[in-house]
Amino acid sequence: MIDTAALRHNLSRVRELAPGCRVLAVIKANAYGHGLTTAAEALAGADGLAVARIAEALALREGGCRARIVLLQGVRDAGELDAAAHHDLELFVHQPWQVALLEDFRGPQILRVWLKIDSGMHRLGFAPAEVPAVAARLAACRAVAQPIALATHLADAERTDLPVTAAQLRAFAAATAGLRGDRSIANSAGLVAWPDARADWVRPGILLYGISPFADRTGADLALLPAMTFETEVIAIRGVTAGERVGYGGTWTAPHDARIAVAAVGYGDGYPRSAANGTPVSVAGRPAAVAGQPSMDMLTIDVTDFAGGLAVGDRVELWGREVPIERVAAASGTIAYELTCRVGRRVTFSTRGA
Ligand SMILES: *Cc1c(COP(=O)(O)O)cnc(C)c1O
Repeated sequence: MIDTAALRHNLSRVRELAPGCRVLAVIKANAYGHGLTTAAEALAGADGLAVARIAEALALREGGCRARIVLLQGVRDAGELDAAAHHDLELFVHQPWQVALLEDFRGPQILRVWLKIDSGMHRLGFAPAEVPAVAARLAACRAVAQPIALATHLADAERTDLPVTAAQLRAFAAATAGLRGDRSIANSAGLVAWPDARADWVRPGILLYGISPFADRTGADLALLPAMTFETEVIAIRGVTAGERVGYGGTWTAPHDARIAVAAVGYGDGYPRSAANGTPVSVAGRPAAVAGQPSMDMLTIDVTDFAGGLAVGDRVELWGREVPIERVAAASGTIAYELTCRVGRRVTFSTRGA
């Protein structure tokens, strides 16, 4: 279930956390698995939307979305640039050949451009030393709206114990000194933990979905509401005797006579196969734990402590309001971002809160 009221709540929470900033809501990768159109509609109160690739933006426009849309990877060729111009999309520019595409553009449109600067992550962006020349080329470009915006991305904003974010902020400030135009630095962790990174535009993703980017805090700790509830049903309840192994590989052996609930969910739906024994799950509203290796279509859960009252058809929550996704991610050796993105195509979410 996708709770659109939670998405709206989390957007207003972002506005509280970053007062006075404009918000570019990041909805790439099918809105982190929540549904591109659902998220775009629920987050219509943002100042703009950001996606990674043009196909995502075109899907939004096709669905009637009139919001500002920014392509975080920009365009790959002249055809994509034509489409971007036609559909009024804004571009990150991070490679010299993207500047050349804009210089060669002959269409009537004027495009908004965000100059991506590599302040230390070393993934995308121009090196600080290249910025003056690139900014001058973009300033002279007929197809580019002036002034251009200036952006960078933080590699470790969730780690307040490391010096790297402060170094990135200094590098970005130095690279952009004297240039006009809006600044954008912070992702979710950056806007919470680094007030100096808030600048003109914040670019939250994970916070909007009600999830904490910090290892030591959950979304609830940040007064966020989980937008995704991943749930299924119990399809079998069985007893196992002490010493019997459960599931592939026998990774869980009953330490005593036990009761196991089998839930209709597995890695074929995006539940992590790496979820360890003991990973939290909620069965019929009560806390329980994964027991045995998750398989493609099924999950075995230790419900020994449940005193009766459990039935086939009972609701199982994998994550959501009852089970913090951050805890499932930690028990699975991954991050919540990957979990929501990987919820499979076999899963159909209902929408609530519209
Ligand atoms: C994905 C992304 C974000 C959002 O990151 P969160 O950690 O989800 O807030 C912001 N900026 C860029 C460039 C991104 O790629």
